Amino acid sequence: MTVSDAVSGLGWPDADTDRPASGAHPSSGYEVAAGAHLGWPDEDAGRSDPADTGDNPRSQEVENMAGSDTGPDPHVRRAAADETASRDDGSPTLTAPESDDEPVVEGAPDGRPRPSERFLTAADIATDPVDTTGALADLDPPIAQQAAVALIAVSRRRQPLPAPASTRVMVVANQKGGVGKTTTTVNIAAALAGSGLRVLVIDLDPQGNASTALGIDHHAEIPSVYDVLIEEVPIGDVVVKVDGFDLLTCVPATIDLAGAEIELVSLVARESRLRRALTAHLSALGNGEGYDYVLIDCPPSLGLLTVNALVGGDEVLIPIQCEYYALEGLSQLLKNIDLVRAHLNPSLAVSTILLTMFDARTRLSAQVAEEVRRHFGETVLSTTIPRSVRISEAPSYGQTVMTYDPGSSGALSYLEAAREMAQRSMAPTGNAEHSTSEEMR
Ligand code: ADP
Ligand code: MG
Repeated sequence: MTVSDAVSGLGWPDADTDRPASGAHPSSGYEVAAGAHLGWPDEDAGRSDPADTGDNPRSQEVENMAGSDTGPDPHVRRAAADETASRDDGSPTLTAPESDDEPVVEGAPDGRPRPSERFLTAADIATDPVDTTGALADLDPPIAQQAAVALIAVSRRRQPLPAPASTRVMVVANQKGGVGKTTTTVNIAAALAGSGLRVLVIDLDPQGNASTALGIDHHAEIPSVYDVLIEEVPIGDVVVKVDGFDLLTCVPATIDLAGAEIELVSLVARESRLRRALTAHLSALGNGEGYDYVLIDCPPSLGLLTVNALVGGDEVLIPIQCEYYALEGLSQLLKNIDLVRAHLNPSLAVSTILLTMFDARTRLSAQVAEEVRRHFGETVLSTTIPRSVRISEAPSYGQTVMTYDPGSSGALSYLEAAREMAQRSMAPTGNAEHSTSEEMR
């Protein structure tokens, strides 16, 4: 598939800009006709073949993103306007419509295709509250995924997100470094806050990356989470408002925190110091001042800082990088979560798993995503975060990608992930138990 094939498959050709209002999205009022017939590649194009298990997954990168017309395709995703011929596999025959409407599947009783028989369009996904078809993650090439995400975001951007009944304290944890904990924390926080929810980020990593990404000064003398944990300073005394957001605040971390792992050992109630401080802070807040979300960014270890976060939170959000070794070490994290649940915080649950740095061009990403979904089922958000240069650039400007480049695929994906999180009710306690230790090894 060439770029021009892809573009014409996306339905953004030549003179289509003046489409009639009949193509407008019924609920959003947003004109989706131009992008409605996304160039969905055939299923499995550029994706993993379960039988193909080469020794070196990295060598399995898909060079050719052109789809083959062979395998059965129940959802009839291909949307080339000239695809009128019967398919060899017996799937419904498509005819290019005269009008701008979706292609018609011949033989449908009322002449209209049933959803499962016609193309899935971005409009379908946009009206699907949390992409229950999972089609978004399946989209390939990446530009199609980006286009779909953009359409969804544009149609939903102005909608406020539902506030939870009470504050959701979410611990962003994974003891592997570089999997996207900090990136996820700050961008989900920014997406939630930008959608009308009150959010507090607690930076619990001595590196202070979340503080940096939120543009907050965190040199050694700044009052920080260290003072909260070690000196019992109230959170209200160290919390800082994040520039550019009305509803986003942060408790910064300074390098002092590096010593806290050791200093905590000899302190009373060493595992539950953050919980105490947070409970006191939440109950001291007046009416209308309470947070909808508290997100705690953990360091890449399973030491006392992470334990304090797990004891202080209600839910765990685990970002998993779509890379080789992604699941390695996860059993240890899940085991620790089980221990904390058993002894210190019975209500703790792994409620959310987010796949990050997904690269739709590689089989490896798809394989990791498939593996994670197989293990964790519904806990995994349908939205995956693509690998995106904009996401990685944003922190160097002291910004989240939500403000640095709000129209980028990274920003739109985080917005969609935040929406999914806000719309989900909490997963039942004990999710982690199904996938712990032995199974994950
Ligand atoms: P962690 O907090 O788990 O150590 P980070 O969030 O700091 O991980 O991410 C590690 C690195 O990867 C950072 O340089 C970050 O900018 C980059 N990164 C994270 N997510 C993405 C993404 N989706 N696309 C591209 N780069 C990313
Ligand atoms: Mg980090």
